[in-house]
Amino acid sequence: MKPRVLFDIDGVFADFITPCLQAVFEHTGKRYTHDDVQDWDIMKSLDIKPEQALAIYKAMERPGLCLKIPAYEGARAGVDRVREFADVWAVTSPFGGEHWMHERDQWLIEKMGFDINDVLHVRSKRKHGVYGDILVEDKTETLVTWTSAWPKSQGILFRRAYNERDLWDGMSSHTWPGIVQAIESVLL
Ligand SMILES: [Mg+2]
Repeated sequence: MKPRVLFDIDGVFADFITPCLQAVFEHTGKRYTHDDVQDWDIMKSLDIKPEQALAIYKAMERPGLCLKIPAYEGARAGVDRVREFADVWAVTSPFGGEHWMHERDQWLIEKMGFDINDVLHVRSKRKHGVYGDILVEDKTETLVTWTSAWPKSQGILFRRAYNERDLWDGMSSHTWPGIVQAIESVLL
């Protein structure tokens, strides 16, 4: 049996921050860049008050938004390489709204070559219920919980500006080639 590699999607494959910053611009008139997001909580890092944050997130629950999320550089080539020696499952926590899950399925099938059976919609707080030999994640908290549930498995943190200061002494990389290399070093 092939080893199984689990991948989180937002922050790993999908750049959720870019449409979010666009929605912020539409509401506040202020332009921010991806690297302005220095905290897991996007709105907190931009100093947007909770009430306005809620309105912005609500406005993002519109058809087509999830489908148009840009992919991070190197994601498709990276996942295709991992598929050569492992089963790859997406473990993705739905954002919200009526359209998100269907569009996320479509995005992963069309842009990243997933089979629909390999796309698991699992809330962050329950990802530790899914077994894999490896989990690649950008949310440190989820990775910590998952690795304590599966101590023989390997958690790999996708380093981003917003998790840079988190406590994590396991494997990590800032790039897709680096992530693939870490996976290869565990499984090959
Ligand atoms: Mg994520």
